[in-house]
Amino acid sequence: MKCLACQMELEQGVAKCGACGFPVIGSVAGSEEEQRNIKQMAGEYRKNRLKGIRIGIMAYGYAMDGDELKLDRTEEVMFASAEEMEVGQTVWCGQDFARVDGDESVAVRVILKRDAGEDKVYDLNMALPAISGFCHIGITLREGLQGQILMGDESCHEMSALFSLL
Ligand SMILES: [Zn+2]
Repeated sequence: MKCLACQMELEQGVAKCGACGFPVIGSVAGSEEEQRNIKQMAGEYRKNRLKGIRIGIMAYGYAMDGDELKLDRTEEVMFASAEEMEVGQTVWCGQDFARVDGDESVAVRVILKRDAGEDKVYDLNMALPAISGFCHIGITLREGLQGQILMGDESCHEMSALFSLL
C-alpha cells in the first residue's frame, strides 16, 4: 500500500506515513465522493508540506578572457516550485547548459530555498547523458517528498540519486 499524499510504500500496520506524516486511511468505506475527498485532502496535505520550497541549481558562467575561457560567475537558477508538482511529474529548466565533455560524471549542485527555514544544498554526482548539443536540467517529484534531478533531454537523460525536499 502506498501513501496517498506522497506515494511512499507504507510498512504494514503503521498509522501514518513515515516520510510525510499523512495518516493511513484504510477503513473508510468508499463511496466515490468519499474517495475524491480523501484524494483531495491528500493532495492538499502534500502541497502544504512542500509549501514555499523552490528548487534550482548552481550554474557556472564562462566568458572569454583574452584567448582563454574563464569562469566568470556563478548563478543560482531556480526553476521549480515543489508545491505545484504532482508525484512523478518532471519540470524542466528552460535554460540551455553546455555539455561537459571528457569526464564521465559531473557534480551538480542542487539548491533548495524555503520561505520558512534555511536553504539546503546537495552536491549530486551524475553520469553524463549520451546526447549531443545542449543539455537540460529537470527535476522530478518522487515518492516520499523526494526529488530527483534529470540531465539531458526528455527522451534521453541520466537521473541523480533521490534527495529529500524537506
Ligand atoms: Zn507520505
